Amino acid sequence: MRRVSVFGATGSIGQNTLDLIARDAQAYDVIALTGAGNIDLLAADAIRLRAEVAVTADETRLGQLKDALSGSGVEAAAGAEALLQAADRPTDWCMSAIVGAAGLAPGLRALRHGGTLALANKESLVCAGPILMAEAARYGARILPVDSEHSAVFQALVGEAPDAVEKIIITGSGGGLRDWPLERLPSAKPEDAGSHPNWDMGQRITIDSASMFNKGMELIETKEFFGTPPGGIETVIHPQSLMHALVQFRDGALMAHLGAPDMRHAIGYALHWPERRDLPVARLDLATVGQLDFLAPDPARYPAIGLAYAVMQGGGLRGAVFNAAKEAALDLFLDRQIAFTDMARRVDAVLNHYEGQSCLDAAPITLDMVQDIDREARALTRSDRMA
Ligand code: NDP
Repeated sequence: MRRVSVFGATGSIGQNTLDLIARDAQAYDVIALTGAGNIDLLAADAIRLRAEVAVTADETRLGQLKDALSGSGVEAAAGAEALLQAADRPTDWCMSAIVGAAGLAPGLRALRHGGTLALANKESLVCAGPILMAEAARYGARILPVDSEHSAVFQALVGEAPDAVEKIIITGSGGGLRDWPLERLPSAKPEDAGSHPNWDMGQRITIDSASMFNKGMELIETKEFFGTPPGGIETVIHPQSLMHALVQFRDGALMAHLGAPDMRHAIGYALHWPERRDLPVARLDLATVGQLDFLAPDPARYPAIGLAYAVMQGGGLRGAVFNAAKEAALDLFLDRQIAFTDMARRVDAVLNHYEGQSCLDAAPITLDMVQDIDREARALTRSDRMA
């Protein structure tokens, strides 16, 4: 039996992961499931899948979780330290699907078992790519990408020599506001930006798709995961979301990965790797699809892309600042304190604030440095000075 844990089990990626695990439940020994606010779902899944422990990140909900698990034999725990302790329980495979920078520390701890970390939490790589990769190497652990674009690149690279790669191209749908007139964007509300044309995802990543901050994160993730220089990474808008990424090789060949927009593909690939197993995902009928469109992202509509390139080029702690400012700006937008288009302005202002400060280029970076600058950049983003 494979020992598995799912961090962020109550979220969109977590639920898709549990769906695949539950289909073959006798093959897995579920160790830890974690969530935050959705206690009923966390408890129900932990009981259904006979998990050892269920952890909520929210300490105030421990009583509620204990009640929900009462008599089931599943342990209950709460808080940031409990998440780390859950990550310390040995596993062969661990899904990192907490949303935001909160996913970094548990993911790092899970690497210590030398198993596989299926990484959906792109924030980990954006904030602390070098730390994560070094920790994986130190403990002989494997990180497998779960973002559909990076899973696609990973698959296109199987059997290829690293120096054969000329360019990596990741696609993006352009998000829910892609066809809005530019002048209307400042009036977009969270509910406008929070619906995606093709993917069914959590609210935060869906809004990040509309601003293309998500694609900016993925560009940085590409650099950190595959070690590709910024000049060798591109993004293109592909409204149908059927082609997830392409790799261009030095002989001019382009290897593309296509599939239905269903995260269970990338999750299942990471779960069963190096095998390919049957997955309950729709098959594409290309004659029905008919047409695939591609267009360059408009920098005026998607300033997040330019910011991401600046972060990739500069390196150091810029990724941690970028992510913290982006998350804090998104909180302000969700609270209706700033406009949709103000999010990129805030992130730009915060990055500019740090530019020239030596802390940004500290080498090597440590988890403490990342967490300190994360806290500081969030506070700065919320302050009126950055308005
Ligand atoms: P969701 O918002 O759907 O789920 C987030 C999960 O994290 C939930 O289990 C939530 O608990 C938990 N959580 C929230 N806040 C905290 C916290 N402070 N500490 C610990 N746990 C917390 O997110 P998604 O599933 O959409 O995304 C998860 C990650 O995967 C993100 O990094 C995202 O960028 C990435 N990703 C997502 C894709 C998708 O299709 N959804 C695609 C590719 C990557 P609760 O719900 O109980 O409050």
